[in-house]
Amino acid sequence: MEFGVFKYMDCIFCKIVNGEIPCEKIYEDDKVLAFLDIKPAVKGHTLLITKIHWQDFLSLPDDLIAHLFHRAKGIAPAIIKGAGADGFNIGINNGSSAGQVINHCHLHIIPRYPNDGLNNWQGKDYETEEIKKYGEAIRQHLK
Ligand code: AMP
Ligand code: ZN
Repeated sequence: MEFGVFKYMDCIFCKIVNGEIPCEKIYEDDKVLAFLDIKPAVKGHTLLITKIHWQDFLSLPDDLIAHLFHRAKGIAPAIIKGAGADGFNIGINNGSSAGQVINHCHLHIIPRYPNDGLNNWQGKDYETEEIKKYGEAIRQHLK
């Protein structure tokens, strides 16, 4: 078993990578594994994970990010065709407030159908000038 910066011996996704927990596998190479989510937001919902345990998206080395998204681009059309969908959402929940439950970096690919019952977020409104303040505050922290 290989690990990134964090070592979670009890990680469910590490156990799936190691074959200790079964999965409905979609794709595998030496760096990533894709399998169906057992509680799909929409049927066909696929998880694409790194084989090495990295806690979250920001922990991933840049070359692995590139590989992960390259593979997502390859897998998404197969999910659409195989599940009979006509669109998809790609998402990463980063941190518990964002809904990350499993602290092993993974990307969700969710097939979408008309009227599939899954709601995208509703847009909020900024107060006057507030959008500029957020922009300035965020730009200050760019490296
Ligand atoms: P997140 O909330 O982003 O951490 O997503 C974790 C996802 O993993 C959830 O959508 C779960 O339904 C899914 N999940 C948890 N355990 C398993 C498992 N054994 N096999 C497949 N998917 C799983
Ligand atoms: Zn893990």
